[in-house]
Amino acid sequence: MSTPIEFLKGVGPIRGDLLKKDLNIYTFEDLLGHFPFRHIDKTKVNSIADIHTDTDFIQVIGRLTHLEAIGEGRGRRLVGQLQDGTGVLELAWFQSINWVEKNLVLGSRYLVYGRTGVFNNKPQMVHPEMELFVPAQQGAKNLLEPVYPSTEKLKARNLGGRQLAALTKQLFSQLKQRDIPENIPNEVLAQLRLMTRYDAYLKIHFPSSPEEYERALNRLKFEEFFIAQVRLSLIRLQRHKSSQGVLFEKVGDYFNNFYNNHLPFELTNAQKRVLKEIRQDTARGHQMNRLLQGDVGSGKTIVALLSMLLAADNGYQSCIMAPTEILAQQHYAGLSELLKDMPLNIRILTGSTKAKERRAIHAALLDGSLHFLVGTHALIEDTVQFKNLGFVVVDEQHRFGVAQRAKLWEKAKIPPHILVMTATPIPRTLAMTAYGDLDYSVMDELPPGRKPILTVHRDEMARASVMEFIRGEVEKGRQAYIIYPLIDESEKVSYEDLMQGYEQVKSFFPEPNYLISMVHGRQPADMKQTNMDRFVNGETNIMVSTTVIEVGVNVPNASVMVIESAEKFGLSQLHQLRGRVGRGSEKSFCILLTGQKVSKEGRERIKVMCATNDGFKIAEKDLELRGPGDIEGTRQSGALNFKLVSLVNDRQVLESAKQWAEAVVTKDEGLDMAENLPLKSFLQQQKGKTGWSKIA
Ligand code: ADP
Ligand code: MG
Repeated sequence: MSTPIEFLKGVGPIRGDLLKKDLNIYTFEDLLGHFPFRHIDKTKVNSIADIHTDTDFIQVIGRLTHLEAIGEGRGRRLVGQLQDGTGVLELAWFQSINWVEKNLVLGSRYLVYGRTGVFNNKPQMVHPEMELFVPAQQGAKNLLEPVYPSTEKLKARNLGGRQLAALTKQLFSQLKQRDIPENIPNEVLAQLRLMTRYDAYLKIHFPSSPEEYERALNRLKFEEFFIAQVRLSLIRLQRHKSSQGVLFEKVGDYFNNFYNNHLPFELTNAQKRVLKEIRQDTARGHQMNRLLQGDVGSGKTIVALLSMLLAADNGYQSCIMAPTEILAQQHYAGLSELLKDMPLNIRILTGSTKAKERRAIHAALLDGSLHFLVGTHALIEDTVQFKNLGFVVVDEQHRFGVAQRAKLWEKAKIPPHILVMTATPIPRTLAMTAYGDLDYSVMDELPPGRKPILTVHRDEMARASVMEFIRGEVEKGRQAYIIYPLIDESEKVSYEDLMQGYEQVKSFFPEPNYLISMVHGRQPADMKQTNMDRFVNGETNIMVSTTVIEVGVNVPNASVMVIESAEKFGLSQLHQLRGRVGRGSEKSFCILLTGQKVSKEGRERIKVMCATNDGFKIAEKDLELRGPGDIEGTRQSGALNFKLVSLVNDRQVLESAKQWAEAVVTKDEGLDMAENLPLKSFLQQQKGKTGWSKIA
């Protein structure tokens, strides 16, 4: 399989070089992995007369009756006509004109394939695939002929799709079954009725029916994800075994007292499940490293608090880190309130904590009298020392760098357990790959009784009525946000937009009847805080802001979120922003304002936002629109480079591959059982070929 491609009969050094340069085919194995993008079914041919406005790809057989290069310079093109007795199909080429013209033979019959359109009322095909028509032989077995991706240059050197098919056929005539050894355990193959690996490779190239092709493709997709998941499971197991961690042996009085007497509501099932997972993780003596994903408002804070109580029951201190001072303050206020009848100490430490208070906190941390510490990055400063830190909560994780977090681990002899909480939902298929080596929990359930936020789209022309709507809400005592897309704080233009917007809002809502807060990244920290505080305390009616308020801020009385130039925001950001309202008992509204012209993708995003409040559904759509590489909250990793599998369309295959991979690894983590040996040797061979080792 690793034989250089030039040694395949019919290739040789010159064509070998071309295959390497143009298609990255270096070895026999690479040629096997160069899959056809479709098969020509010679039995399925349409008539030109069948073509209408919404015909997609079709295949016709006809005679080339006209061919002519016309136009000059950039407008130069080749046009032709194909006739099949039922009609005339116009053909057109805009590239490789000379080569195409030279190679087509006027008057010959061609098998023609491509996407058709109707242009000037005539059926037309641009850059069709053309091959001289050769009638299928009587009784010929293979009616499905593979067509491979190639380049114009290769076609010109006689290495087009058909020649690649011939080379692949040649390769199979030399290969034995054992050259493509199985790598999936027999039991899995049998249970799922998957093709063997050899058959799958053979049939993805040379199927005898579309169904057989599908089965081959399915097997190879399963294999691709199964192998990836086995690797991730092994990494995770290895980490579990090698890392030492503090042991939370018992559930004690703090936890039970709070749970039975002070918990303000019944936990959701999702909250209970995650708590159980944390309880199990921390009782093992190994470090927990768990990522908790929960949509905005799913109630992550209480899960963090209950975990911290568990730590306290076992004699350990906890801290909770937030990305901004505002959020740290909110956590501190919320947690203090929940803990007010508990004999536990909680303090807050941020950049603005006064020196005297800071010294007191340091001392209390060292002598163990301080149980819980809330804070920002200030927590990571070297001078902060704990007596026995056992549990760390990192809220809204994507704002913290990995290196910053690592500093925290160093604050204890035995590393504390880590719970990273994020409110940026990412689709499950993506999470399985991007975080497959971490312990991972999802809270996909909101506490009962939430009123969905009504989301609408309005264009600029409706601005006055939007302002009137806000006035109505403000008259009822509610508050409103108006957000501007200052994506890059240094961007001058959007800064001016914000200032202009502010003036305009002020003219609609003049003082002293109305009061407005404004917050943006160019303000000094204390000014930001003052403006924020006034809104939080209900002193101001309207908050005009950039996205600095995006994450976590909690003002239950706010019932309107207006997002200006909404088409400029990504889906996850829109969802985060919308999550600032709908936190109280009142019905809430989100108004997406745009110009009159909105791009197709922008329109699509807005449509999704108006249709659903479910962060996970929105994340699925985001993945569909943008592809896996660009989704926020996803670690950059080789884990996302799949050749066959699509994280959007192959959900079922992915779920099943993951389950089986975990079952195999759990049963036999050394992969030493006889039936796992082929898998083991495959993994060993692949080592170094991929970037997988980098993920851990
Ligand atoms: P997030 O996951 O966005 O951080 P929070 O922890 O801030 O969400 O919780 C959002 C709101 O929901 C808070 O006011 C909290 O008290 C409330 N809450 C959390 N869990 C429940 C529950 N099980 N039942 C009712 N309300 C809950
Ligand atoms: Mg939160």
